[in-house]
Amino acid sequence: MSFGPSGMYPAYAAPSEAAVRHYDAMVAFLREEVLPAEAAYDRHRVEAGEGDHSVPPVIEELKVKARERGLWNLFLPSESGLTQLEYAPIAELSGWSNELAPEAINCQAPDTGNMELLHLIGTEAQQREWLDPLLAGEIRSAFAMTEPRVASSDATNIETRIERDGDEYVINGRKWWISGAADPRCRLLIVMGKTDPEAATHRQQSMVIVPVDTPGVDIQRSLPVFGRQDQHGHCEVELTDVRVPVSHILGEEGGGFAAAQARLGPGRIHHVMRALGAGERALAMMVQRAQQRTAFGGPLAEQSAVRERIAESRIELEQARALCHHAAHVVDSEGNKAARHLIAAAKVAVPRAVLSVIDRSIQLHGGAGVTDSTPLAMLYGWHRAMRIFDGPDEAHLTTLARAELSREPLFDLPATIFDQLR
Ligand SMILES: Cc1cc2nc3c(=O)[nH]c(=O)nc-3n(C[C@H](O)[C@H](O)[C@H](O)COP(=O)(O)OP(=O)(O)OC[C@H]3O[C@@H](n4cnc5c(N)ncnc54)[C@H](O)[C@@H]3O)c2cc1C
Repeated sequence: MSFGPSGMYPAYAAPSEAAVRHYDAMVAFLREEVLPAEAAYDRHRVEAGEGDHSVPPVIEELKVKARERGLWNLFLPSESGLTQLEYAPIAELSGWSNELAPEAINCQAPDTGNMELLHLIGTEAQQREWLDPLLAGEIRSAFAMTEPRVASSDATNIETRIERDGDEYVINGRKWWISGAADPRCRLLIVMGKTDPEAATHRQQSMVIVPVDTPGVDIQRSLPVFGRQDQHGHCEVELTDVRVPVSHILGEEGGGFAAAQARLGPGRIHHVMRALGAGERALAMMVQRAQQRTAFGGPLAEQSAVRERIAESRIELEQARALCHHAAHVVDSEGNKAARHLIAAAKVAVPRAVLSVIDRSIQLHGGAGVTDSTPLAMLYGWHRAMRIFDGPDEAHLTTLARAELSREPLFDLPATIFDQLR
């Protein structure tokens, strides 16, 4: 049993030779190329200034180097031959440098989720036009579901209209938090909207592919996360009488809600895998700082309060990783649907654990921890946002509680004192 009170946890198969080879290659890539490139990335962003979304040249250079090392599209089992459990430690390594490494190996959100969708339900023509250049790392994409006017954690609320007019769809609506839409390489939006507001609740929505240069697509601004602009942006987008051919429907009309669920499952677990790497980096920084910084007569590492925080951080990361890997194993062995509760649990537990580790690391860095001289403040902001994007914690907790409340009990338990009082 994959989720619930059974104690029968599976033994995982040993990783394949290819998985070990990719893992070792990823360690070397981070050590030799990615971590040393962070300074150039940061310099470009500072010099380009607030609101600039140009691509630091070092990113395209890293992509070439990653490909030469065979580190490319590892998130997609049909491309890489890796299971999700084998991909998990590699994705985790990419989270150590979360603004450079995922993109360097073409495993960055939101493109991974979009590539998965195109791979799963795209037509042959859509795959050639959009999936191939995405897999080649030539273009980028965005996923446009959330709307400012409605509570979008409940995707049935989405109001954007997709109306058929002859051989075209006409799209009208307002989206926000559309990650990646400010990147100059972004060529397509996958837009979720309603094709039939009268249909059953979960059959009203559809997804269409909208090239960003279609007339009526207005990318108005990029929203900062805790005051910080990401390179690829999180955009507010107005869609006014946007026309695309009916062949741009992704999957079937009315199938948008189900497709969104299919997209978000793997997307969520990949976020969680990368988050673990960010947590490991924060812990490594905490350890280094504790050993190097002296206060009140000795290194901070000699203070029992500091040692305890380091130990608590290790425990939390190991717990979080075990849950993430278990979820990945169930995705591999039983599929996304069977793994959905475990993915929901990991989506709640892992960012929480990682945030508490980053928070301790910030504390140990003192004033330096809240500046942008270390990556800690950026990591804190991003992982705090992770508790909201791809579904807020409460939505996942609701799903988990529903599953628990509808579960057949494992035992007929003896009457409690409360039963006897009836
Ligand atoms: C950095 C970032 C990147 C994002 N990228 C994208 C993207 O690329 N594409 C895209 O479409 N969207 C994106 N989003 C949007 C994100 O997915 C939504 O913000 C999220 O789904 C929540 O929707 P909402 O903001 O409308 O909040 P609402 O739905 O209004 O919810 C607000 C709050 O209500 C509470 N709540 C909701 N449901 C329940 C419940 N069942 N029980 C109790 N409380 C509840 C929660 O506290 C929740 O945070 C991104 C968001 C951020 C911050």
